Amino acid sequence: MRLLVIGAGPAGTRCAVRLAERLPASAVTLAGAEAALPYDRVALSKLLAGDATMEGLITHPLALLRGLGIVYRPATPIAAIDRAASEAVTTRGERLGYDRLVLATGSSAIRLPLPGPRCREWCSTGTWTTCGRCCGPRPAAARRSSSAAGCWGWRRRSGWPRGG
Ligand SMILES: Cc1cc2nc3c(=O)[nH]c(=O)nc-3n(C[C@H](O)[C@H](O)[C@H](O)COP(=O)(O)OP(=O)(O)OC[C@H]3O[C@@H](n4cnc5c(N)ncnc54)[C@H](O)[C@@H]3O)c2cc1C
Repeated sequence: MRLLVIGAGPAGTRCAVRLAERLPASAVTLAGAEAALPYDRVALSKLLAGDATMEGLITHPLALLRGLGIVYRPATPIAAIDRAASEAVTTRGERLGYDRLVLATGSSAIRLPLPGPRCREWCSTGTWTTCGRCCGPRPAAARRSSSAAGCWGWRRRSGWPRGG
């Protein structure tokens, strides 16, 4: 059976892993829009603060996914689902066939319309890419706060306990 999981965030990745473990005879494909390997999105604020490296955030190395027989397809945004043909269509027009489909595409952060110290607006550190592109490594003195996924509010470095 061909199992296609769209979205390689925590939910999609764990789903793909469980499917591969429980249905070893199936062909599990994990297709994600992001170019990175599955990573700890919650820890992006640590990356922003300089307390973690990008490599240290990876939760599922390629060897682990391959070892489970999962075909990992990064940088593969799905543009449409052709239910009649049981195929997901990528933005490049490639068609990925499936027998069972899992949608684990998460949600989008609401960006706060506030000015920031280094950016035109406060960074929404929702993805590895935006976190690195928007702020990049910053000096300790410049560490202030990050907003996470819209609903997690402000994390003020000076006031928050470590690990909070
Ligand atoms: C900095 C930060 C701190 C957080 N802290 C906490 C916390 O302390 N506790 C907590 O519970 N939660 C926290 N969250 C929220 C938590 O990260 C999310 O709830 C969680 O990531 C949701 O997982 P998900 O897999 O459902 O969705 P997501 O993590 O959003 O993953 C969805 C994935 O699907 C991909 N995708 C979307 N559309 C497509 C498409 N068309 N084709 C292919 N791929 C697609 C996206 O690129 C993304 O990689 C935090 C988030 C951030 C950013």
